[in-house]
Amino acid sequence: MITASLRSHLTLWFAGLSLLTLLIVGFYVGHIATEQMKQASGNSLLGTARSTAALLAVQLRERQLEVSLLSKAPVLRKGDLDAPDIMTLMELRTQSRAEYAWMGVADAEGRVRQAVNGLLVNQSVQQRPWFQAGMRGEYTGDPHEAVLLAKLLPGAANGEPLRFIDFAAPIRNANGETIGVLGAHAHWSWVTQIVDSAVMQKDATLNIEALIIDFDGKVLYPEILAGEQMPPASLRAPSGWTSGNGYVSASVAVPSPSNANLSWYIVVRQPLDIALQPARVLLYKLLILGVLAAIVFGLVAYYLASSLSRPIERLARSAKQVQDQKPGAVFPQEHSVLEIAQLGQSISSMTQSLLSKERELQDANASLEATVAQRTADLTQANADLLKLATHDALTGVFNRRRFDEKLAENSLLFQRTGRAFALLLIDADYFKRVNDTYGHAVGDDVLCQLAALIESTTRATDFVARYGGEEFAVLLPEVEEPDSPDVVAEKIRAAVAAAQFPTVGQVTVSIGVSIAQPADRDSLALLKRADRQLYEAKGAGRNRVA
Ligand code: GH3
Ligand code: MG
Ligand code: MG
Repeated sequence: MITASLRSHLTLWFAGLSLLTLLIVGFYVGHIATEQMKQASGNSLLGTARSTAALLAVQLRERQLEVSLLSKAPVLRKGDLDAPDIMTLMELRTQSRAEYAWMGVADAEGRVRQAVNGLLVNQSVQQRPWFQAGMRGEYTGDPHEAVLLAKLLPGAANGEPLRFIDFAAPIRNANGETIGVLGAHAHWSWVTQIVDSAVMQKDATLNIEALIIDFDGKVLYPEILAGEQMPPASLRAPSGWTSGNGYVSASVAVPSPSNANLSWYIVVRQPLDIALQPARVLLYKLLILGVLAAIVFGLVAYYLASSLSRPIERLARSAKQVQDQKPGAVFPQEHSVLEIAQLGQSISSMTQSLLSKERELQDANASLEATVAQRTADLTQANADLLKLATHDALTGVFNRRRFDEKLAENSLLFQRTGRAFALLLIDADYFKRVNDTYGHAVGDDVLCQLAALIESTTRATDFVARYGGEEFAVLLPEVEEPDSPDVVAEKIRAAVAAAQFPTVGQVTVSIGVSIAQPADRDSLALLKRADRQLYEAKGAGRNRVA
């Protein structure tokens, strides 16, 4: 499936539909116009044919009447066909009427007695149809090639056969007996000129031509079509005109004089493509109009579609922006088309709620992370506390007994391996029961804390201070540089305690037992025992002293 923009879709549909509509209308109107033009042309041609035929009939009847009147002239009725007056009469007629090619009188035996210009005089015309018919009554004959006259008349040289129309009337004497025939031959060209002048047009481009057809449908005129056969249907169409063979043609039978032996048709015709020229012009104009209209409709549709599709394209662009998580997506929410406006509003609020959901999610994530961090920190602290709890004394903060035992074991091992001497001080508060009894257990605790702090501050950072139990503390001195240096440290501690002022209690003293690791010691217990013994000695010697 080809995907095109809304704009292209609408434009193509509008332009296509308008073109189709105008083409259909154009062809329909063109068809109607063609039929009407045919009819108009046929009727007009029929009118021309009718008037031509009427004119021709009048002219033929006049000639017939003329010959008839001449035959009844008194000079002919006398009975002398050789009388010179007859010649004068005939000459007068032929001179005034150029269409007469020949005029003469023949006697009852068919011998020409007198003729204008002496043509055919004394020759027999007994076999001629005009003579035979003329003996019986008035006669107007078919055009024919004049066998006898052709040789005698000038003008036969141009190749065209000389045709004539015969007119004849009987000559009767005073008794009513037929004594001869007055005959006249009119030039065929006279007939054709009558026809031609009747259809003569102002506008030669209309190409209207007139034909003379005989009863059998054979063309008599014009000469170039002579002998061609016209279909009988086209001659006797009920409407008077037909179209076919590239022509619109109207035919009318020439009204024959009552006694005439004539049956002609006048056919007036016009080439179809000329008759239908106006219809064709109309059709072309309609087609051009159709194409122009399609272009205009297409342009209008394009602009219309643009105004519809621009906001939709913007919506699509913004939606893509949202999808790609790019900032700055704007959804137009106002448009004259309700659905487009609604679409904009819906997408906008959808995006808003999506964004706020996302923000909520981010916030939830952040708080979760904070909680996890807090928990982790708590756990770490708890671990550290636990570690400290495992190694330190809860009350005083110095190392506890468990850690002291480990440290003592470590130092003993190190001493056995390297021979590096270390010392142990056991410190015991003097008469501590009394402190408790006098001031309470809580004050006793405070004194223990202060004692621990004093011992720590008096020893080095490398020295190891622990609460050995109750109101007893132990200090491990890892380096013993001089044999009496542990005593110095012990004395420093004792003096610091004795000099310190304890809140509520006032003065507190301690007794300290000192022992140094000996290579002979089997384990750390020996050292401990020695220190304990020294402490006991210090107590026994009056307390507040170092042993
Ligand atoms: P001296 O050592 O001088 O012989 O006399 P003393 O009173 O100190 O005797 P002893 O060492 O037998 O008594 C120890 C007393 O220390 C017993 C107890 O009431 C007190 N004591 C032990 N541990 C704690 C403690 O953690 N807090 C408090 N407040 N008192 C304690
Ligand atoms: Mg004690
Ligand atoms: Mg004591």
